[in-house]
This record gives sequence, structure tokens and C-alpha cells, in this order.
Amino acid sequence: MIRALILGLAMMTAPALAQDRGTLQPKDLPPLKNPADPSNVAKDVFGRAKDGAPGKPEVVGFYSKGCLQGGVALPLDGPHWQVMRPSRNRFWGHPDLVAFLQSVSVRVPQETSRPGLLVGDMAQPRGGPMLTGHASHQSGLDADLWLMPMPDRRFTRAEREELPATNLVRADWLDIDPSVWSPDYIAFLRLLAREKRVERLFVNAAIKKALCRDVKDDRSWLSKVRPMWGHNYHVHVRLTCPADAPDCAPQDKPPPGDGCDASLDWWFTEEALNPKPGKPRPPLRMADMPPACRRIALD
Ligand SMILES: [Zn+2]
Repeated sequence: MIRALILGLAMMTAPALAQDRGTLQPKDLPPLKNPADPSNVAKDVFGRAKDGAPGKPEVVGFYSKGCLQGGVALPLDGPHWQVMRPSRNRFWGHPDLVAFLQSVSVRVPQETSRPGLLVGDMAQPRGGPMLTGHASHQSGLDADLWLMPMPDRRFTRAEREELPATNLVRADWLDIDPSVWSPDYIAFLRLLAREKRVERLFVNAAIKKALCRDVKDDRSWLSKVRPMWGHNYHVHVRLTCPADAPDCAPQDKPPPGDGCDASLDWWFTEEALNPKPGKPRPPLRMADMPPACRRIALD
């Protein structure tokens, strides 16, 4: 049952395995004929939102089926962060996510050898499903952070769109690439996982395997670090629901323990490494979304 569920996820996340580039000439999509039609594919509606939905910040639904009211943009530059692939306009989130990234970025140079964060996809301005990639990142509480260290300088606009990220995983997906891996990656992931608002971190199973092997002292934070396909260029940070957010559907707590048991071995089996393609799932339609999201998409 759990495996079927995980394999279902594999199909949904498969496009995110390839590393997407941005563009220096983003083009507007043509407007929809009837934006309010509930049979519209939800990603076609949410993928056209240019700015946040008016109203007080509100997370609606679940990480993989939800949306965001009152979303705010993370500035493209801060003292300790840089937004990558800005042409994708996915640097939006619930104010808690933006505040979290800003505050944790200050601690990055204190606890690692990096001067700051390279921020990848967060959410679209109003959340919701995306035209490409991710099944989640819909409710303004998920953010991808590049695993490669931020350099001691600002990237140019072209670099932000086109620079390839560093792959931490070996070509056979069975372990990390030892020529890249270093204790600094552990310090970076530990800093994130120890944050109270972090619900889960998703990393490639090979990275989880390396953590299981290399983390010696405090291993309590490992339970939050969950194996997933892809995530060999970035770590996915997921925050808990904000306080006082009745429409935000929480995720079950990660199972207790460090997750370095037999359940991790499954990720290195043929079934997991080369999942058989199943029937593609039909895309979410606006009618499938929580009712409040139909309003938030168009307000
Ligand atoms: Zn992600």
C-alpha cells in the first residue's frame, strides 16, 4: 500500500528529475478563453497568476492540492540569499515561508562554510499546481534550496537562469558522488532539519544513505530527512501549517527513528530505481481543487 502510494508519487514527480533551466526572455501565456470554467486544468489557471491573491495570508488545502491567499514574494536578493531561475516566477510563499528563509539564511554563514542560500522553486503567486515539475509546492509552504554552496559573489541574471547546479549523486543512483560530498553538506542539512517549523526535508535516497553513514553525534534530526526521487540538485524544505490556519491540511508526522533501517534499502531496489511507467494521472481540474482555491485563483 505504502509502496503503491510512493510509486504513484514517482510518476507525479518524474519530470522534476531533469534539471530545468530558466530563460532571459520569459513570454506571457495567452489568456484563457473562460478562466472561471471549473473544467479548466488547474495548472493552466494558477500558472497564469502574476501576483499574490488579495486578502489576509491563508493556506488552503494540502501541499499537493491547495493554494495560497495573500502570498508574498521573496526579494530576488538579500544579504544571505539569491533567488535562482527568477523567470519562473516561483519565488512566492506564505509570509511564514518568506520569513523563515530570511531568518535561516542569516544562520547559514554561522553554521556552514557558505555565505548564504541559493533559493530555487517556492510557489507560484497564488500557489496551486504548476505547469511543469512538482506535484507539491502548491500551498506556499514548500521551498527548494540548491545543495551547491552559494559563492562569495552575486550571480548575473544569465547565470541565475542557466547555471547548472551540482549533482550530489553518483550516476548509478546508489550513493553520493564522493568527489562532491563533504561535511559541509551535512552541516547545511542539519541546520535546516533542526528548525522547528521544518516539517520534512526531501533529499535523494543516496543522500539519505550518506547521512545515515556519516552523521555520528546527534542523529535526532535525521527522522525529518526523507528519501525521495530526484532531489539530487536541491533539498526540498517543507514547513508545518501556520498557527491559526484552519484550512491548511497538515501532513502526518514523519515516523519515529532515524529512517536508516530496512525501509531505506527499498529505495535501491530495481522497483524503486526504475519504476514501471503506470497510467498517467489526469491533471487536477479547477473543480477538483478546494472550493476556496477557485475563488483565490481569479480574485
Ligand atoms: Zn521541491
